Amino acid sequence: MIPFSPPRIDQKIIDEVVETLKSGWITTGPRTKLFEKKLAEYCNIPSVLCLNSATAGLELMLRWFGVKEGDEVIVPAYTYCATANVIIHCGATPVFVDAGEDFNISAEGIEKAITENTKVILPVDIAGFPCNYDEINTLVKRKDIVELFSGSTKEQQTLGRILVLSDAAHSLGATYKGKKSGGLTDLSVFSFHAVKNLTTAEGGAVCLNLPEPFDNKKIYDYLCVKSLHGQSKDAFAKTKIGGWRYDVVEAGYKNNMTDIQAAMGLAEIDRYDTDMLVKRKKIFNRYSKRFEKCEWAELPQFENNDKKTSYHVFLLRIKNITETQRDEIINKIFDNGVAVNVHFIPLPMLSLYKNLGYDISDYPVAYDNYSREISLPVYYSLSDTQVDTVADVAIRSVEEIINN
Ligand SMILES: *Cc1c(COP(=O)(O)O)cnc(C)c1O
Repeated sequence: MIPFSPPRIDQKIIDEVVETLKSGWITTGPRTKLFEKKLAEYCNIPSVLCLNSATAGLELMLRWFGVKEGDEVIVPAYTYCATANVIIHCGATPVFVDAGEDFNISAEGIEKAITENTKVILPVDIAGFPCNYDEINTLVKRKDIVELFSGSTKEQQTLGRILVLSDAAHSLGATYKGKKSGGLTDLSVFSFHAVKNLTTAEGGAVCLNLPEPFDNKKIYDYLCVKSLHGQSKDAFAKTKIGGWRYDVVEAGYKNNMTDIQAAMGLAEIDRYDTDMLVKRKKIFNRYSKRFEKCEWAELPQFENNDKKTSYHVFLLRIKNITETQRDEIINKIFDNGVAVNVHFIPLPMLSLYKNLGYDISDYPVAYDNYSREISLPVYYSLSDTQVDTVADVAIRSVEEIINN
């Protein structure tokens, strides 16, 4: 079986983790701080906070901004459930917007969805392909949209407009007009979950890139407290002489990253562009060459003048098939020893959101993308021969179904 997305665990990662285990410090400490610094340099942004997941990062930032009951947060209908579940956690209302042909949230759709209750826009770089950020960032600063916004917390009043918080779970290393993901919006959140391009088993990072007069470094300090019980000192600081006394300033969360996780991230970040992304790009190009020849294949966009993907997953669509046919194709592919996937089942199709009253028929492009989509494996250890096997099996399976 060719698996879908095994993590890259080589000797370098094992050595870094073992060294951490032997170092006498395994939770948040020097390695987490160094990983944060390296990520901030990599993304060319003022500050990065590492946490135990992207989900935790998204929720922490919604809470930091004061999102609460009665507020609306605009999200794509086509994403993973984490993107919208965190809005529910805050008691606010997810407002779904349909996808575009590139799988990402439609910028036109966002404009139509804005109301006087909109506090945040939460776009997602599906498969690592950046959204149309110039359009989104311009929209939130447009005079009539700014006038519609009413800030009810200090943070909301300071920003004076809708916050753009991007779910960049897939897009570490992607670029938009030469700028790296992480620095494309006010706030962005990466995931280092086991299936993501760079993994720490579980983990995430919040990229702080807020405009003046916000002080991103100060906000970082505050978020360290907020993500650790509201406690004024972390465990590492408490080990210093005289450091035992602490205060608790709010009922904070418990979302911190451990140094074991950070060790995995540190092993990967320095070679991410020159090794991981190069390898993934090669796989994308090899798939593209194979499927270009198939009339029925609709290839994903992954590079244009403005955007470069992080090559997270290869989203193949088959023209003119039904959801049932797609499911049959997937079964055939699995029967032939290849694991594939679907990214994603649109949220309005899931029980939670259906029961909240959302209806997939309001998101026709998301449904169309989903119903014809098959995600092909992309990962570091996938060899050229395996890529060819995946392509052969996929082509054979599709043709058996559509010619039937
Ligand atoms: C993986 C993923 C997340 C959640 O990441 P965690 O680190 O597992 O919390 C959020 N959004 C999208 C689009 C994802 O694919």
